[in-house]
Amino acid sequence: MNQILQVDLDNHRIVVQPGVINNWVTQAVSGAGFYYAPDPSSQIICSIGGNVAENSGGVHCLKYGVTTNHVLGLKLVLPDGSTVEVGGSVPEMPGYDLTGVFVGSEGTLGIATEVTLRLLKAPEAVCVVLADFDTVEGAGRAVAAIISAGMIPAGMEIMDNLSINAVEDVVATGCYPRDAGAILLVELDGLQVEVSASKHRVAQHCRDNGARSITSANDPQTRQKLWKGRKAAFAAAGHISPNYFVQDGVIPRTQLAQVLREIEALSERSGYRIANVFHAGDGNLHPLILYDGSVPGAFEQVEAIGGEILKLCVAAGGSISGEHGIGADKNCYMPQMFNEVDLETMQYVRLVFNPKNLANPGKLFPTPRTCGEAANSRQLQLEGAQLF
Ligand SMILES: Cc1cc2nc3c(=O)[nH]c(=O)nc-3n(C[C@H](O)[C@H](O)[C@H](O)COP(=O)(O)OP(=O)(O)OC[C@H]3O[C@@H](n4cnc5c(N)ncnc54)[C@H](O)[C@@H]3O)c2cc1C
Repeated sequence: MNQILQVDLDNHRIVVQPGVINNWVTQAVSGAGFYYAPDPSSQIICSIGGNVAENSGGVHCLKYGVTTNHVLGLKLVLPDGSTVEVGGSVPEMPGYDLTGVFVGSEGTLGIATEVTLRLLKAPEAVCVVLADFDTVEGAGRAVAAIISAGMIPAGMEIMDNLSINAVEDVVATGCYPRDAGAILLVELDGLQVEVSASKHRVAQHCRDNGARSITSANDPQTRQKLWKGRKAAFAAAGHISPNYFVQDGVIPRTQLAQVLREIEALSERSGYRIANVFHAGDGNLHPLILYDGSVPGAFEQVEAIGGEILKLCVAAGGSISGEHGIGADKNCYMPQMFNEVDLETMQYVRLVFNPKNLANPGKLFPTPRTCGEAANSRQLQLEGAQLF
């Protein structure tokens, strides 16, 4: 199911099958000056169906919102084989927002077979600012200062020293100083006059927070060069370590410096190196815990460190997932964020669409198997519940 079914530029929308790869959408419409905003770093391989299931984010989601803000309607096949259309081709459909319910449900409610997406007009001007800092904390403070000043850049990404060197080893951009504690990439877009003014303001906030040097690029080739390392960062981590464990959590931007210090302390205590590369504007952290899977017990230790990082995020007022979803990996951390009634309410929604738990069982909700906890009797009752 990898076909683009309909392109409707006049109404800024496109209808695709779920197997269409994320960046095929922009490729299909960029010639006419349009694009599809949600751009996960995995966009050359991830599918629109997966994006819908995970409510994926990406570099540009700081300003433009995540997948749910760009899905107008869906055709679904429910676990009993019935088909249903939710949402539609106009933004405000009457009735319950079932499109919003389905997006981010991680495949637990059924299968999306057709997706109507919103397209955006490409901005008049784009500029990428690259600032390097002695410390990650300095870069984090610059991010908080830029947002506090009322600017919403299209994207703001941070990479720490370990990630910078991994990327320079592999992609050799020559743009990221190897001795920097961190780099901050800020993309600005909009009208030319707005972008030019914002560029100077962003540079000033970076300097105020300890930036050592600042460069910027307006032309597409240089911009692409500045982004290339960031886009390759996860893959480059595989160059400096036999294995790595990607964590995904969110914290309020104002807590960036503090939480990053705590992650660093966790790394020192445990002896595992942790590289940080993340959507800083959203406070969406992606610590990469480096380890050697051939060492007995290493994976279990790293998994536990990942769990500690999630607890840090929750304690800082954040969340256990920014964009990668919960799946089977993090479902046992759901009670860190939600109480019994919260989880029960979500199960009621699941039961309406998927009463026999046929669609993606074992995902999203905590189960005794994955959490090593005693079964929650109320949840077990829900499994067999007849709602109507
Ligand atoms: C290197 C790398 C970088 C990444 N960067 C980002 C990032 O910047 N932002 C981000 O949000 N995520 C990121 N991710 C995570 C991942 O790419 C996204 O969550 C993506 O949306 C998943 O799409 P997929 O096609 O890989 O889905 P899959 O992994 O194949 O599926 C994900 C889930 O969706 C369900 N699903 C798939 N299709 C459907 C459908 N049609 N109907 C119902 N359920 C369905 C599956 O059952 C599964 O549970 C990254 C991953 C990697 C490996």
